[in-house]
Amino acid sequence: MKSELIRKKFLNFFQSKQHLIVPSAPIVLKDDPTLMFNNSGMAQFKEFFLGNGTPPSKRIADTQKCLRVSGKHNDLEEVGIDTYHHTMFEMLGNWSFGDYFKKDAIDWAWEFLTEELKLDKSLLYVSVFEGNAAENVPFDQEAFDLWKRYVAEDRIILGNKKDNFWEMGDQGPCGPCSEIHVDLRSAEERAQTPGRELVNADHPHVVEIWNLVFMEFNRKADGSLEKLPEKHVDTGMGFERLSMAMQGVKSNYDTDVFTPLIQKVETITGASYTKNNPNVEQEKINIAIRVIADHVRAVAFAIADGQLPSNTGAGYVIRRILRRAVRYGFTFLDAKKPFVCELVATLAAQMGESFPEIVAQQQLVTNVIREEEQAFLRTLDQGLQLLDQVIAQTKGDTVSGQKAFELYDTFGFPIDLTALILRERNLKLDEAGFEAAMLEQKTRSRAAGEVTTADWVQVNDRELDNPFVGYDSLTNETTLVRYRK
Ligand code: ATP
Ligand code: MG
Ligand code: MG
Ligand code: MG
Repeated sequence: MKSELIRKKFLNFFQSKQHLIVPSAPIVLKDDPTLMFNNSGMAQFKEFFLGNGTPPSKRIADTQKCLRVSGKHNDLEEVGIDTYHHTMFEMLGNWSFGDYFKKDAIDWAWEFLTEELKLDKSLLYVSVFEGNAAENVPFDQEAFDLWKRYVAEDRIILGNKKDNFWEMGDQGPCGPCSEIHVDLRSAEERAQTPGRELVNADHPHVVEIWNLVFMEFNRKADGSLEKLPEKHVDTGMGFERLSMAMQGVKSNYDTDVFTPLIQKVETITGASYTKNNPNVEQEKINIAIRVIADHVRAVAFAIADGQLPSNTGAGYVIRRILRRAVRYGFTFLDAKKPFVCELVATLAAQMGESFPEIVAQQQLVTNVIREEEQAFLRTLDQGLQLLDQVIAQTKGDTVSGQKAFELYDTFGFPIDLTALILRERNLKLDEAGFEAAMLEQKTRSRAAGEVTTADWVQVNDRELDNPFVGYDSLTNETTLVRYRK
């Protein structure tokens, strides 16, 4: 089943259960001091859970563009190394705002997966919250009993606070959750180790696909829990993971969500993506290709939603992701010219129907990425050479923070990129030394009354008074402007 149809089926299914279908909120958040990017479907509805404001319907469903690269939910280090965590992904979700609760949420999730999509029931496991005495939240007996109507007891796993108590961030709405996992291993593998032992164990083929959160609490700034005025349902299902399960493949990158991008990377660079038993060298190429196919989505959607790469805040997060992709291409795929920008057309062709903004902004996104790549490529080679020298001169296994700062300051190497390259060589980075060098420079430039300059015109990351509503024109780097409301 094509991924597009899976997305449609999800929305149609919940529409048939009287849910209002709404568009995805932008991936970039401008007015939430606790969150930089949308990291889950519920973020745009947060205020409704808290009882501030009334939702347009008590039942809503959508697919939300999410980005998990900062804050409480940060998957960046996993991306490309594993095959099921992305920076940007789609989260299919259905919500009840003070309407239905556990029973309908569980019944419909099960109905959708096993009847509508006809996923094999014998591959599914579910988990429920085991309870937490310290926080005075009990074992979720109700969810356990509801699941027992569908699955054998040995397929119900009790999960701890980390896996089965969902929180958006350090503060905000939260509650116990019940998750659905799918076991995609071969029959032989399944005979050897029961799937229940691998649930929540980071096994690449026993993966969590859907989280049903029963929102009952608000985590306050002081860390305590308070009861919300009403009970709500908030579910989130990884679209790419569901596509993997539905398409009978063992990696999100082997679904039709990613194959067009991967093929395009192969065409541009001449490298090939090898699925079966890659050796160590080929695996490095595979990781690079996965990282690039992943990162272009994050960067392109963020730009289309109004977040330009910049030197601060959310803009710097986007710049870091892009630079990471560029360096993977440069080092492992021999890509010495801008190439990420060329993937935008493939992405737009594939995602444009569901996310028209990527088509509307295609030219601008392409240009911004190209300029950004060019700027980084101008110094990347020299920076990598300097890093080689530094490594050669390093005694022990920790590289100087001062040198890492030089790479950042002169060659535009984000600190996490330097750390990543060092990790590939089994080295560590003196992060405290880096921070100290950074602080020293800030103090110096403040004393000199200097204004920090970026290689892009700065568009303020958090322009609360002037929310982004579209780009005007792009002729060169200096004419990026925003419409003001
Ligand atoms: P995991 O344990 O695999 O990291 P999670 O528990 O952090 O996932 P949730 O916060 O429960 O994820 O989000 C709901 C769903 O979104 C998950 O069940 C999963 O299918 C999907 N999902 C979460 N993080 C990612 C990601 N980085 N890339 C792709 N899909 C994801
Ligand atoms: Mg996670
Ligand atoms: Mg989890
Ligand atoms: Mg989860």
